[in-house]
Amino acid sequence: MPAPTIVWFRRDLRLADNPALEAAARAGGAVIPLYVLDETPGLRAPGAASLWWLDKSLASLGVGLDAVGSRLILRRGVAADIVAQLARETGAATVHWNALFDPGYPERDKALAEALKAQGVEPRRFNGGHLVKPDEVKTKAGGAFSVFTPFWRTARQAVSDSGQVAAPDTLPAPVTWPASDRLADWRLHPRTPDWSTGFKDWAPGETGADAALEAFTDQALRTYSTDRDRPAVEGTSRLSPHLHFGEISPKACWRAALAAAHHGKASDGEAEKFLAELGWREFNAAIVRGADLATTNFDRKFDAFPWRDDPEGLEAWKRGATGYPIVDAGMRQLWTTGWMHNRVRMIVASFLTKHLLIDWRLGEQWFWDTLVDADHASNAGNWQWVAGSGADASPYFRIFNPLLQSEKFDPPGDYIRRWVPELARLPAKVIHAPWTAPAPVLAGSGVRLGVTYPKPIVDHAFARQRALDAYAALRGMSA
Ligand code: FAD
Repeated sequence: MPAPTIVWFRRDLRLADNPALEAAARAGGAVIPLYVLDETPGLRAPGAASLWWLDKSLASLGVGLDAVGSRLILRRGVAADIVAQLARETGAATVHWNALFDPGYPERDKALAEALKAQGVEPRRFNGGHLVKPDEVKTKAGGAFSVFTPFWRTARQAVSDSGQVAAPDTLPAPVTWPASDRLADWRLHPRTPDWSTGFKDWAPGETGADAALEAFTDQALRTYSTDRDRPAVEGTSRLSPHLHFGEISPKACWRAALAAAHHGKASDGEAEKFLAELGWREFNAAIVRGADLATTNFDRKFDAFPWRDDPEGLEAWKRGATGYPIVDAGMRQLWTTGWMHNRVRMIVASFLTKHLLIDWRLGEQWFWDTLVDADHASNAGNWQWVAGSGADASPYFRIFNPLLQSEKFDPPGDYIRRWVPELARLPAKVIHAPWTAPAPVLAGSGVRLGVTYPKPIVDHAFARQRALDAYAALRGMSA
């Protein structure tokens, strides 16, 4: 019987379509599934909402492994030391993992691979997290892309799919199982207080991910290109946390969208639009390589940008108390559910960076802590896109008007009514800008501005001009 193989699970918490696991199962020896709560200095620690998700996702993976005669070994500490130690303990000849591309990971994993080799253990790395390996999409000149459209044109052609790999029916167990921590002892679920009660609609784990994909391709994909911009409508897949934790492979999403189009459940155009959004995930992963985009401007010209120090504005933004209903609705959806609709993410990020002139890094950090789908590449990449400092960024002078955005994408005000209930009785005509409502309308709807709901913390026209001036000064400096 061949020596055991360790499968080191990281952000690939699934049994199906998992190249590292599949190859281990094929190797014929015992398979030892491992998850390490990684405390390596210098690697970004997950935020609180991510830890909530991780807790449930690991529990689900453990159940899935039990069902195929295996178990999930849990350890906590510096991952490279733990992996090497477990290989010694178990006599494993091989360690498999799926590659990660966030800052610090490729270097750490390379060093671990060398250390394993020196100890006589073969490291084998796979790509399970991306449609195409982020370091393999190159311009004709061999460089990295910094503009999405040509990137996606190239990447889309490069996707090769050999079809779904089913979860293994059984996994050979070792003669004795190594010791494992107890998941509950990691205390990943918040306790004092338990702020996660609003997360109840999520179903972390592979089964939940499959169900979300199926529901989406059966329903919302049909009208994806238009409904994806309407925050009051279930118009998107809500697959982002599942994809981030690798409970489903991006190729499974790719395949399902194409199959839905093939079977007439959605048009080719709708499927392509969805694939292009998966493409943005690929693009962010490709640009984040080699740079810590959560701390560093992609466009270094922005290093000189005159961000304002405004702790009160930041606090009002975090709490959903800016006086702009669409912004406040989004921030409260985020706090309550761990997720925010993409259109509204753009609006609130624009409000923070342009209306309040607060450094995008502070917004990125808040999202990092509160999003269940917080993803280094996608979060930093999108924050920089909105701020204007990113790769292929939205130009800085394009400043979202929160009122027009609100009227355009939530015309009846349903999204606002849901998340800002103190405004729920206002008529659609004024709900986007309550300060424009006549006094009797406010009184009749039970709204007292400055008492039951804040007045706007900044005037739109003033804020817009201030942002344009700051940008002009930056251009002047770098001219
Ligand atoms: P769908 O519309 O169903 O899209 C399908 C999948 O495509 C998503 O699950 C996601 O994996 C990917 N995707 C879609 N849009 C984007 C995008 N703009 N960039 C990268 N991938 C995308 N997404 C994250 O996964 N993690 C983050 O931390 C994150 N932070 C963001 C911060 C800001 C300021 C903004 C504007 C966007 C951010 N996004 C982030 C992108 C996007 O908002 C979410 O991926 C999307 O809202 C998730 O919902 P969904 O799964 O229903 O998306």
